[in-house]
Amino acid sequence: ISRWSLAGMTALVTGGTRGIGYAVVEELAELGAIVHTCSRNEAELNQRLQEWRAKGFTVTGSVCDASSRPQLQQLIETVSSIFNGKLNILINNVGTNIQKLTMEYTAEEYSMIMSTNLESCYHTSQLAHPLLKASGHGSIVFISSVAGLVHIYAGSIYGATKGAMNQFAKNLACEWAKDDIRVNSVAPWYIKTSLVEHVLSDKEFLNKVVSRTPLKRPGEANEVSSIVAFLCLPAASYITGQTIAVDGGFSVNGFP
Ligand code: NDP
Repeated sequence: ISRWSLAGMTALVTGGTRGIGYAVVEELAELGAIVHTCSRNEAELNQRLQEWRAKGFTVTGSVCDASSRPQLQQLIETVSSIFNGKLNILINNVGTNIQKLTMEYTAEEYSMIMSTNLESCYHTSQLAHPLLKASGHGSIVFISSVAGLVHIYAGSIYGATKGAMNQFAKNLACEWAKDDIRVNSVAPWYIKTSLVEHVLSDKEFLNKVVSRTPLKRPGEANEVSSIVAFLCLPAASYITGQTIAVDGGFSVNGFP
């Protein structure tokens, strides 16, 4: 097996129809992996699957709301039957946000953000563990955020979910090392996707983002997918429990 190839490996990427998840599906497929993905919108999912087929990638998909454990259970059953009970790569990418001040959130909003961002990671990882272990070499990557490292005006609940994801990855890395499963998280700063289109289209806000970012621009989804794919390669076999920022230097810029 080449250190720089995912040929013969199987992968599940949650939320692969747009943005970072979409870029990760393509990156893994380009490196030779067979990929399964999910989203809530069946029409968009089918559209993407068709596009990938045309590009020669082997990608299948299911409709699944990752904030629901029963639906995740169904998803993992599907993945298990397609991949014969073995999964090398799990990318927990699904995430959402409602940007508000702490005093303005409702209990329902708190639950929605928690279940979509954090609980989905917990349930997917727990449900996929037997498949990851059975594969011989497993790798989990959580798509976290710099909001889990420092305060950014994204809201306290979002920040809490991402901080918890980083710590959850560290715990799983230690607990599941004996099963040859590595677990890392990747923490992006602003990346041009449908999730943040509305904030980045506000010129004043974009200027603030750029002024705090040493590389002077927001990132592209394929600048995140490259490190995600790297973490899944045999070449990354000694890297586990890490939180890696993909942020144009934002998180180290103490005095801009
Ligand atoms: P997008 O909103 O552009 O894409 C999200 C993808 O996930 C879509 O395919 C969407 O499909 C799917 N999805 C969303 N919610 C669910 C759900 N409950 N169940 C199943 N699928 C779902 O987001 P991004 O690509 O920007 O974000 C991906 C991850 O990256 C998130 O965890 C986010 O927090 C993180 N991130 C993003 C940053 C950014 O600036 N863009 C910065 C830092 C972190 P559908 O809606 O049809 O279900």
